Amino acid sequence: MRPLSHSSIGMYIECPMKWHFRYVQKVPEKPKHFFSFGKSIHDALEYFYGVKTLPPPSIEEVLQYYSDHWLTEGYKDPKQEAEYKEQGRAILREYHKKHIDQFRIPYFVEYGFNLEVDGVKVTGFVDRIDKVGDDRIAILDYKTGKAFPKDAAVLSDQLTMYQMACEQLLGMKVERLTLYHLPSQTPVTSEPHSQSQVDALRERIVKVHSDIKGNLAKLERAEIKHFPTVFERSPEFSKQAKVSAETTCHWCDFKPLCPAWEHAYGKPAAAPEPEALKDDAKIAKLIDRYGKLHDQLKELEEKAEELKDQIVASLGEKGYVRAFGERYSATVRHDERWEFGPENKKTVLDAIRGAGYWDRVTGPLAAKVQELMRDPGLPMDLRDRLQRMGKKVESATLRIKKVSEES
Ligand code: SF4
Repeated sequence: MRPLSHSSIGMYIECPMKWHFRYVQKVPEKPKHFFSFGKSIHDALEYFYGVKTLPPPSIEEVLQYYSDHWLTEGYKDPKQEAEYKEQGRAILREYHKKHIDQFRIPYFVEYGFNLEVDGVKVTGFVDRIDKVGDDRIAILDYKTGKAFPKDAAVLSDQLTMYQMACEQLLGMKVERLTLYHLPSQTPVTSEPHSQSQVDALRERIVKVHSDIKGNLAKLERAEIKHFPTVFERSPEFSKQAKVSAETTCHWCDFKPLCPAWEHAYGKPAAAPEPEALKDDAKIAKLIDRYGKLHDQLKELEEKAEELKDQIVASLGEKGYVRAFGERYSATVRHDERWEFGPENKKTVLDAIRGAGYWDRVTGPLAAKVQELMRDPGLPMDLRDRLQRMGKKVESATLRIKKVSEES
């Protein structure tokens, strides 16, 4: 299962069915202008703070970068896009003016992390991390949406997750957590989150993960037809969700595909699969089939090896070289060969050459030496010397044949 992130956990709590459309079926969503706008501003700030040496980029450089990397998707028309673009310019100008004098190169910009929370993989990105002491850091996340209340940073699960990740992976103590509202240039800051907040988030991550696993298994066994919709999610998730079911569905792109909206849109058609995903899905299926066969083969080989050892031992005890089952016969042949080790290779060859047997071992070396060792006419002194340099390795091969195939 793919690692969970703050936003995928939030989406699952909002509506498991929506999560399934988005992360498993990978149904494309309509581009949203607010995502494009937020990303364009985040990218410009990443450029501003991403310098390796001082001085920081001037406002002209930041605005040039912003303009060159502006994302155009999701705006309803060019007028709306132009208004947002201008609003973004104003935000960046104001931000630059306010922060240029205290500019310091951050400890990390866009810090990507991969974390394990009680065995569950979690991933994410922190906008900015500043070092505020030898072993202390400050975490900051930029927001471009609506204004938020003063206690937003104190209550933010996203900041709890960042605190967990940074403390665990960087080995630093978090001194403060900030949500920075860019349109109003307002930071709201919190002390480090408490252990009980961290524990509650751990529990939520584990609960979401086990719920997803349970639903995926039920879907595979055909015990359910689809993931629970917002109206069917667990009561625990309903309590945790920040918006009502109606609001969740109102903004959801998947309504025409959703079983909860069949009364309004008719029977949902199968989710459209983009071409690239079809190819990816085909490759994934082949890999899984191959992996499964590989595992089965390994298991069978191990079982066969065990049986072979038991048969060889039993035949050996009885002094048999051949025995029969109802449908198969087994014949054991004992082989021996000599291994000399790389450290003795030169001495072995010198000994053979010195004894006048060099022409017998030219060619594929290991096989020729084995042949020579099996030769009963080999002089005793050469055999002795070679035997002292090597060690005898015995092996047994078991040939299995159907009785009807016996000649
Ligand atoms: S339409 Fe509503 S119930 Fe269906 S996936 Fe979207 S949010 Fe969930």
